[in-house]
Amino acid sequence: MFEHLAPYAGDPIFRIGDMFRQDQRQNKVDLTVGLYYDGKGRIPILDSIHQAELKRAQQPETRQYLPMEGLPSYRSAVQKLLFGTECAALNEGRIVTMQSVGGTGALRIGGELLQLASPNSEIWISNPGWDNHHAIFEGAGLKTHTYPYYDSVNGVLLFDDMKQAFQTMPEASIVLLHPCCHNPTGADLSNAQWEEIANIIVERKLIPFLDIAYQGFSNGLDEDAFAVRLMASKNIPMLVANSFSKNFSFYAERCGALSVICQNTTEADRVLGQIKLLVRRIYSNPPLHGARMISDVLNDPELFAVWEREVNEMRTRIRNIRQKAYDILKVQAPHFDSAFIIRQNGMFSYTGLNQTQIEKLRADYGVYLIDSGRISVPGLNEDNVTYFAESVSKVV
Ligand code: PLP
Repeated sequence: MFEHLAPYAGDPIFRIGDMFRQDQRQNKVDLTVGLYYDGKGRIPILDSIHQAELKRAQQPETRQYLPMEGLPSYRSAVQKLLFGTECAALNEGRIVTMQSVGGTGALRIGGELLQLASPNSEIWISNPGWDNHHAIFEGAGLKTHTYPYYDSVNGVLLFDDMKQAFQTMPEASIVLLHPCCHNPTGADLSNAQWEEIANIIVERKLIPFLDIAYQGFSNGLDEDAFAVRLMASKNIPMLVANSFSKNFSFYAERCGALSVICQNTTEADRVLGQIKLLVRRIYSNPPLHGARMISDVLNDPELFAVWEREVNEMRTRIRNIRQKAYDILKVQAPHFDSAFIIRQNGMFSYTGLNQTQIEKLRADYGVYLIDSGRISVPGLNEDNVTYFAESVSKVV
């Protein structure tokens, strides 16, 4: 029955992660998957979450099904975190938020909703971008295109080309945007550039789909929501997918949310209804544990303060290790322009290394980055940053 199915080639990022695991060298360095590691190379367990779990463990609760749209206290806390408390659309009850299975689940349900509302929808994704965006939206039946975003050879944002693309794509096109910590380039728009993009979106009646998977990793929890809040303030109909995988170090708990800004409360009711229907047909309702822990942290001022401090620490560590890598590269490889690493934000840097250099790094030095030349910066720490920089200096 299934013999004719094509074999799955596997995800290219995970494939290189597998190569890393098979490498027996002690000094190997993993810069492949977007995971946050602390200075000792461990995936942290956040104290805010640990405290929330200890409190809950004292009064165990039954595991009743959640509503299709998720845990109410989680959904409202997500809204405040993304949109702030001053948001008119939020205060008027025009934002629908559902608990999703990770950021990926939010993107997919959002794609399904768009396809349901306007069959044959087309979505424009940055080039370069996160490969899975194409797969997720194609899976939901949307046609995908790309818009120019970053020149990897010269290491610069192609802002004029991006604007030009937004000005010429058909009206009502959907545009996928990363409010902060662009994956894979780490190159973000300035607030002034976001203003320009938001104005074009209004003029051209485009539909923004904002994907915020690293809130807090660029400049701060509120600062990183700038684009989300700006577009919400302009009353642009839009979708926002957010993920807590990285900023709660909660990868396996699969916690995210999809928020949709609607024109009025009647539309919001319909959107919520269709979201429920989509969820009911796919997985019925979301899991409880992770959402309850995040809700406990976000809704308790003391735990929230602990979490915010932890996010700030993660961000600062990434900044510091970027600086350190740059300082060493500047000396070891003076002819190689490595300033990209301190210009870019968040988890990722786009090195501009070519395929031969990337393969040599893997084969000769056990330094693993993915084929696009993206590195996941938190894979670097005090113990391996010098080795990384020396290895790069030998291949450039
Ligand atoms: N969006 C972007 C840009 C990402 O980089 C990621 C994860 O790597 C996601 C969404 C998905 O997040 P999650 O792991 O929560 O599904």
